[in-house]
Amino acid sequence: MDYEVIVIGAGVAGIYQIKRLADLGINATVLEAGGDLGGTWYWNRYPGARFDSESYTYGYSFSRELLDEWHWKEKFSGQPENLRYLNHVADKFGLRRFMQFNCRVDSAHYDEAANLWRLRIADGRTLTCRFVIMTLGLLSIPTLPRLEGMDSFRGRSFHTFHWPHEPVELAGKKVAVIGTGATGIQVIGEIADKVGELVVFQRRPNWSAPLNNSAISHAEMADIRARYDEIFATCARTPGGFEHEPDRRGFYEVSREERLALWDRLYDEPGFGIWLRNFREIFTDEEANAEFSEYIAERIRRRVKDPVTAEKLIPRDHGFGVQRVPMETNYFEAYNRDNVTLVDISETPIEAITETGLRTSQRDYEFDVIVYATGFDAITGAFDHIDIRGVGGETLREKWADGPSTFLGMLIHGFPNLLMPAGPQSGSASTNYPRGIETGVNWCTRLLEHMWAHGHDRAEATEAAEKRWTEHVVRMYAMMLMRKAKSWFTGYNSNVPGHEQGRIRYFVYNGGAPKYVATINDVAAKGYEGIEFGGAGQATPRDLVGGVSRAAE
Ligand code: NAP
Repeated sequence: MDYEVIVIGAGVAGIYQIKRLADLGINATVLEAGGDLGGTWYWNRYPGARFDSESYTYGYSFSRELLDEWHWKEKFSGQPENLRYLNHVADKFGLRRFMQFNCRVDSAHYDEAANLWRLRIADGRTLTCRFVIMTLGLLSIPTLPRLEGMDSFRGRSFHTFHWPHEPVELAGKKVAVIGTGATGIQVIGEIADKVGELVVFQRRPNWSAPLNNSAISHAEMADIRARYDEIFATCARTPGGFEHEPDRRGFYEVSREERLALWDRLYDEPGFGIWLRNFREIFTDEEANAEFSEYIAERIRRRVKDPVTAEKLIPRDHGFGVQRVPMETNYFEAYNRDNVTLVDISETPIEAITETGLRTSQRDYEFDVIVYATGFDAITGAFDHIDIRGVGGETLREKWADGPSTFLGMLIHGFPNLLMPAGPQSGSASTNYPRGIETGVNWCTRLLEHMWAHGHDRAEATEAAEKRWTEHVVRMYAMMLMRKAKSWFTGYNSNVPGHEQGRIRYFVYNGGAPKYVATINDVAAKGYEGIEFGGAGQATPRDLVGGVSRAAE
């Protein structure tokens, strides 16, 4: 066997996972498809890419030294700085030597007789391991529209995820942005005043509110450092894993004036407060949601000068907050500029990409650059891209054809020794990712330690446990207005066959971080109830698990 553990993906989760394994002296490696570490923050180099989480709640919490030495320079830090941070972490803890880059895993097959996983790598190698840990990212498979003529365009075009590493000259250029999700909204706000001409092609508008970013001074950073324990304790207490706590007053218990006073305050506050410090009924009660949505619509009308454009920017098919809320900087003001036009492609659909631009049902447009901000094959897409086969050759793709089913979002029945610290239906899928990721990685690592200590060499979620968890996840959707929205939270993506319409996929756990953590801790405390272990007896001696090996060796 080549490794005791192979981790797939060197993003925020993979970096922390290998840190934990390296500390334990486990023979492990990380295989990363990209040219370097960083995951989301390695790939998404589009202008305007930045955290929507407060930077200091996004960073790792595991090392006091790291917390003490890193200065977040902005409340919502930008992509270059975020990538620098992840590189700093990897270098500080000597993690790079465990990582293999440009290393795409094509398949992972479980060999039942040998109780090991066999991974085929695109470079022709086959690697074996006892445990495979999938830290693939929730939004790591970008999806392009399926439009005629896309290859014929003679200018430059790319998905935001594949924004080139070298600078892209936009000054004076005619630029198209297709898509107005969290990504499109960041790009548009950032480039509107830098390009010659910008045409935004919007199919459905998204509710969005100001990010209210600002610099963090040395004095403020010193204060944050002194409060880190308190900050992380707050994140652990809140449903979303942020500092933002919901307003516990009942929506209908307070007067309309009090509601407006709260909303006026939240609109001017930084970050997700407008979404997560709000009344809880916003997420569950149609009427409460409609009243708040109308408040935000009014804000949009105040900010966008042309009333026709303003109305086009107001969503009609879903209420505020039932999809992931994009945070914006100068987004609505962009439409007040003479060089920016909004095209509603629900009225005049794009018919084709041409050699010189694109054609809608109404007219032809000429562009130098076309930016596809058209989203991701979310949550399960990265799993579907690997041919994963478990017991009896069952493929994960088929098992999850109608949506994922998991135990705690971390294990899958029929796929022994495959762990997902931040998988579908786990706590991190709907919360401040790194907070959830640390929880997941710690839990998975403790499970492995438990197995090594007890001489177990096989762990598999029982069918009953997986069924219970998945039903629990499904039940929680029933309470949420989110179930009615067409977004990646419910598995919708018009560009992925089978994901275009209708069937909800139960991708995320909606019970909130505290309940999730309590549940998984309880499972561990009860001797990993719901998991069947194989190979009992004596503890596996450290030298059998293997000393730390270097990827390069
Ligand atoms: P998204 O939310 O799925 O938005 C994709 C956009 O492209 C939508 O406006 C969609 O329109 C449009 N679109 C897709 N296919 C199209 C087609 N064939 N023709 C025309 N329009 C099309 O994707 P995203 O904006 O990349 O955001 C995904 C997630 O990434 C976010 O929800 C967030 O969780 C994460 N993200 C995070 C940050 C951050 O933390 N700072 C920043 C960016 C993204 P429809 O709505 O009509 O489908």
